[in-house]
Amino acid sequence: MDLNRHDFKLEELVERIGAGDHRLVALQLPEGLKIQALEMIDALESQTDAKVIIAADPCYGACDLVHHKMQMMGVDLVAHMGHSQMNIDSGMETQFIDVTYDGAPELEPIIPILESHRKMAQERLEDSSVNEIDDSEAQERFLDAVGRKLPLTDTKLGLVGSIQHLHLLTQYKENLEKYGFEVVIPEGGERLTFPGQVLGCNYSGDNNSIGHYLFLGSGDFHPHGLVLHTGKPLAILDPYTGEARELSLQIIERILRQRFGLIMASDKAKSFGILIGEKPGQMRRNMALSLKRLLEKHGKKGYLLALEHVGPELIDFYPVDAFVNTACPRIAIDDSVKYAKPLLTPFELEIVLGEKKWEDGYKFDEIP
Ligand code: SF4
Repeated sequence: MDLNRHDFKLEELVERIGAGDHRLVALQLPEGLKIQALEMIDALESQTDAKVIIAADPCYGACDLVHHKMQMMGVDLVAHMGHSQMNIDSGMETQFIDVTYDGAPELEPIIPILESHRKMAQERLEDSSVNEIDDSEAQERFLDAVGRKLPLTDTKLGLVGSIQHLHLLTQYKENLEKYGFEVVIPEGGERLTFPGQVLGCNYSGDNNSIGHYLFLGSGDFHPHGLVLHTGKPLAILDPYTGEARELSLQIIERILRQRFGLIMASDKAKSFGILIGEKPGQMRRNMALSLKRLLEKHGKKGYLLALEHVGPELIDFYPVDAFVNTACPRIAIDDSVKYAKPLLTPFELEIVLGEKKWEDGYKFDEIP
């Protein structure tokens, strides 16, 4: 990653520190940007009267705001970099800095992939228009990649990205329209700040008029979540490398097979650890309590475990048969192989208990 091509917007932060006469500032950065942190401290301390502390614990999202510990240390402003504000309040004054990257890859290599995905969406839309068929035929014909009936109303291209690349979307929409695509930049719910933004736990901008997606970003974290949530074909354009690719359905099938295996492995489980995330934007206490009640209804035990960080070394030793996670939804999906016992999402637990049916399609665990 070329850090010199990122805009950390330090001038805005310098201005805010001066205007608020802040004296002790905490800098919270995602792992990939921490290498630049000391340089930022030098710049901030030379241009303001503030002393700067790095909040050096791992940070994976704006769900993970530093709060009472920094307050106890006397910090009066947090600068949170690389993520945008969510619908949560950490109780600390916080400046969100949506670090941007200046790379703008060529669209041409992605066009053939988008054309083939639009064709897939058109076929699904045509199938959806046939309404006089029975349920089993409907199941056959309307299934999306995660096994649901897909009520498409159009085949628009949804243009989304990770936060560093969102400034490209408006221009890319215009350019894609010149290639003949009908493009929409979806606007999501309160957890998302910007049009076209997606998070690993929230794809709420999706709607029935979008038939396929183009994601601007790198890695598979957001793409896996986007397809698990929407079930729609996904093309990926990486602004760091210029690489154009698609997310293969085999990968989604592999994830679904793994999830199904964990559900089956929990079938006879009598006791469950229910994980509650302590981070401000991951805490779903009410959901955890209702899962405990649901387990009791089915004659099973649920033990509530609250953690700031979820990891196998912190839970594997509890004498329960399986775990269900209400903290960051991606822990169960992306990290389950690290755990000695099945680690389920709340939806998957409902399948284990017979409250939901796997045959109706997979439901991604979203935090609204
Ligand atoms: S809950 Fe998980 S996926 Fe959502 S923002 Fe936080 S770290 Fe990312």
